[in-house]
Amino acid sequence: MDRMNSLMLNTDGVQIPQLGFGVWQIPDQEAEHAVTTALEAGYRHIDTARIYGNEAGVGRAIAASGIPRKKLFVTTKLWNTDHGRVEQAYDESLATLGLDYVDLYLIHWPAPKQDRYVQAWRSLEKIYREGRVKAIGVSNFTLDNLERLDREAELTPSINQIELHPYFPQKQLRAYHTANGILTEAWSPLGQGRGLLEEPALTVLGDKHGKSPAQIVLRWHLQLGNVAIPKSATPSRIRENVDVFDFLLDDEDMAALGALSKGTRLGPDPATFNWMG
Ligand code: NAD
Repeated sequence: MDRMNSLMLNTDGVQIPQLGFGVWQIPDQEAEHAVTTALEAGYRHIDTARIYGNEAGVGRAIAASGIPRKKLFVTTKLWNTDHGRVEQAYDESLATLGLDYVDLYLIHWPAPKQDRYVQAWRSLEKIYREGRVKAIGVSNFTLDNLERLDREAELTPSINQIELHPYFPQKQLRAYHTANGILTEAWSPLGQGRGLLEEPALTVLGDKHGKSPAQIVLRWHLQLGNVAIPKSATPSRIRENVDVFDFLLDDEDMAALGALSKGTRLGPDPATFNWMG
């Protein structure tokens, strides 16, 4: 098994490392340190966003790492207040990151009340066509949002980054993605560490495989075909979360994880989330 498996995007030749490092809620100064630890541990995919306020710290860690830019996969996201000024927002993110392109640019939320996400998507398509970004996608898009893009836009998003963990496995959206060549990327893949990682079923599976509950959950994501972007600011956990490429869950294990579904979200519902903060 590869140390770090990659998946093909529906964009010519672009591959995404299946496991990435998420930096939501890590302040800018700490982000530099956390990303440095992650790169040393073997992560090559970093997930940030304009609204996280840590693009600068992420950029400093990348610059200091000495890792060739083409060996890294960097994602950032367009914030809700920027749906009408995509090109400027993209350039601002690049300047803050200190990069001349990102690998993946996502619309962070559809924010349906302002009803500008189709317009925003057309601007992402333009940036992509101009060769200024390797791939474009969306985040928190519902089935309705995706179907509307399919009707009204030209390009299919390469990825939809959505809340997804064993408590909220998103079966319906995953099936739509698969049928339409869209990769599924899981945010809060560990259920934010709350409750989920204490599930007895995960302890049992952890004992069986000599792995931690977090590693079991991450392995489940990989075997479902998801991209997963766990977050931690703790060096030992950063390393633990990437050490998931040397074991396999069997069908029974996967079924035990599937049985944990509660169908409830931890985060906001994209259909009603219109925050402009
Ligand atoms: P997560 O599921 O990755 O959980 C992170 C928390 O789990 C940590 O803060 C820690 O408390 C705990 N944890 C991590 N590793 C552990 C381990 N090995 N053992 C025990 N506990 C552990 O949650 P998240 O940070 O919400 O999501 C991950 C990333 O997803 C974010 O950093 C961000 O990049 C992305 N995200 C995107 C959106 C979006 O709207 N697109 C929303 C939320 C998060």
